[in-house]
Amino acid sequence: MKKYVITSVLIGSVIVLSACKPVDWAQQQWNSAFNDSKEESEKDKEKENNDSKPNESQQDQPPSDTDETGEPENPQETDLPWLNETVTVSGDGKAIVQNLDDMLIVANKERNLPEDYVPADLVTPNVPFPFKEDLPKKKLRKEAALSVEVLFKAAEEQGLELLAQSGYRSYDTQVSIFAYNADQYGEEKANQTSAQPGQSEHQTGLSLDVTSPQVNYELVEEFGETKEGKWLAENAHKYGFIIRYLKDKEEITGYQYEPWHLRYVGVEHAKEIHERGITLEEYLQKP
Ligand SMILES: [Zn+2]
Repeated sequence: MKKYVITSVLIGSVIVLSACKPVDWAQQQWNSAFNDSKEESEKDKEKENNDSKPNESQQDQPPSDTDETGEPENPQETDLPWLNETVTVSGDGKAIVQNLDDMLIVANKERNLPEDYVPADLVTPNVPFPFKEDLPKKKLRKEAALSVEVLFKAAEEQGLELLAQSGYRSYDTQVSIFAYNADQYGEEKANQTSAQPGQSEHQTGLSLDVTSPQVNYELVEEFGETKEGKWLAENAHKYGFIIRYLKDKEEITGYQYEPWHLRYVGVEHAKEIHERGITLEEYLQKP
């Protein structure tokens, strides 16, 4: 928990230019984005209907269009930014992520973001935060910010009380957090509890830690047992988000279960990742 407090303290003393107010254009942009995804999901429904129909109509179709071939039905599945194709290895042996502006970008303990990478389209979503200061950690990349506004609205309509605790985090902030933890608890412990600079997903501007009054605005595992945490686990994908660090997937993600850490990937990918119950790493492992 300390590291989040520290983040606030660290950045709290810096005067930050106010983010542009995304409200009006956000709505506009979102409307078009949302219509697209509605169309998508209607298409999906149509597809489901077709799939559930008996073979009668399929007999008329050319053989290339069958499900039985074992070929992936969804052409997009063959065209994902696979993990092993989206890094280059630098002189010192570090894997550096290349697809920086991709919504499916993966940063983890084996994949480093460049020191100077700052997403170009960071904005502050119009959602409640448990603090008043205008800090950089309020920001997210535009598409994620628009989507999280819709997610929060949907949660509110269910009588849930979500708050956004921490979004974008710069490389330099992560340097400070890691150095502080290493100084306090030793490097080994620091490695377990905080990300090395360049390895935090928060630097992508696609991650948001959320919390609720029920857990005292903290980022703790019990959040997963609150009604807010349960709702997110069941519904976040409808708004393009996944729970990034799942229970019992530490070996794959490198992180313990974090029911509060949302990651934006877009509706289509989120839906599939959710339905398959897998991690982003597994989703992007080339078959
Ligand atoms: Zn997080």
